[in-house]
Amino acid sequence: MNNHTLTLAISGAAYLVAALMFVLSLAGLSRHETSRRGLVYGITGMVIALVATIVLVVQNASSLAVILLLAALVVGGVIGLWRAAKVQMTGMPQFIALLHSFVGLAAVLIGWNGYLDNATIAPELVGIHRGEIFVGIFIGAVTFTGSIVAYLKLSARIKSAPLVLPGRNVLNLGALALFVVFTVWFVVTPALWLLIAVTVLALLLGLHLVASIGGGDMPVVVSMLNSYSGWAAAAAGFLLNNDLLIIVGALVGSSGAYLSYIMCRAMNRSFISVIAGGFGIVAATQGDEETGEHHEITVDETAKLLAEATSVVITPGFGMAVAQAQYPVAELARALRDRGVNVRFGIHPVAGRLPGHMNVLLAEAKVPYDIVLEMDEINDDLPSTSVVLVIGANDTVNPAAALDPSSPIAGMPVLKVWEAEEVIVFKRSMAAGYAGVANPLFYRDNTRMLFGDAKVQVEEILRALSDVRV
Ligand code: NDP
Repeated sequence: MNNHTLTLAISGAAYLVAALMFVLSLAGLSRHETSRRGLVYGITGMVIALVATIVLVVQNASSLAVILLLAALVVGGVIGLWRAAKVQMTGMPQFIALLHSFVGLAAVLIGWNGYLDNATIAPELVGIHRGEIFVGIFIGAVTFTGSIVAYLKLSARIKSAPLVLPGRNVLNLGALALFVVFTVWFVVTPALWLLIAVTVLALLLGLHLVASIGGGDMPVVVSMLNSYSGWAAAAAGFLLNNDLLIIVGALVGSSGAYLSYIMCRAMNRSFISVIAGGFGIVAATQGDEETGEHHEITVDETAKLLAEATSVVITPGFGMAVAQAQYPVAELARALRDRGVNVRFGIHPVAGRLPGHMNVLLAEAKVPYDIVLEMDEINDDLPSTSVVLVIGANDTVNPAAALDPSSPIAGMPVLKVWEAEEVIVFKRSMAAGYAGVANPLFYRDNTRMLFGDAKVQVEEILRALSDVRV
């Protein structure tokens, strides 16, 4: 066996081990208890894949290509480390959206390279090769611009309200039909203008698809773009003839698609409707206007109420992440449990800005897993709960979703906190949540508002609680 064949065999084996690591990683990440192990598998798989790829390139490519590869690795690695070290937990969703856009851009560039590169392709495979170029560019470009719009929406640089162009469904379907026509045309006659046309078409479609989706449905968009980035990577894998990229792309693509499906089910949304850019969703007109009079509560009154409660449910939301209130919140839960109060957490599947956002924060603050319950597990217990603390949550506890069919978030299952005896809402103002929808919870007779930063207020309550004797 010569050197080249040996390298190929070793890198093939390394790719197989890396692929196995990624499968184990996904399995590990699916449960709290095993998620750290899942991460270690993922990192190990990525290191093996990178080393195997570098060895392959060093063996086969010119020294200029090797220098370029190492330079890209250093520059990319340094920027990645720097950004990842700096990013706040609240900035993770937009950071991830930005990373997805890079995968999309890479797939577009690889597609273009596949066209411009004069590599010899067996005559019977030329048609397939041209088809791969088009599919790669199309998925990549949709992912690229779609992720940029998601980044802009999630970082509040543009409004999260849906863009409703007249005939938007026809526009999306038309773009898809045109893509099919262009692909067939390109397979027969590979003209440069077709390549430019499909790139522009897909870039515009990505923009439109994500711009058409409203704030409330953004969780599905984030996981859908995750899925698209996987398919874009798989398409690039076909073009580069790289088995590992195909496997990893398919893993990311299918797990992202399944996550999108689960989130759609959790939000009572049609999967097809969301992936088709809000197909069939009638834009609701309700704004964020006030709907009555609200009542406030002080820190001391809250501490007293909590000390006298038999059961307390805490429903955290995005505001807890903004305030970084998870540590005092965990401390409050401990203090109340020490006093014999039954304390549990109720987690909405789309609370925060990332799937599992609240679970990560609570785990970070060492809240025991067994008192952290899913929305479906806690909802039936809420009518017999003495006090619910809504900490920085808004859309996920909005009664309009359950009670007002004209609401833009109608039909989305929510935590029915209003059914408890007392509800205390921690937030800084009467502003609406991410979906921009008014929240009638704030005006209910059994709701009290505790204004201010959630972390400061919970810390104050902890201090006040130590003075309360029951
Ligand atoms: P929301 O985003 O609806 O509301 C968060 C609330 O936190 C706001 O009302 C805000 O009010 C309050 N807040 C912000 N900062 C602070 C602070 N420092 N202290 C106290 N309160 C604060 O939160 P939810 O978690 O209930 O809902 C999540 C929303 O995000 C849903 O609409 C969901 O669809 C969407 N989304 C979810 C994603 C996911 O994957 N989980 C992804 C993308 C979007 P105020 O400004 O008055 O303080």
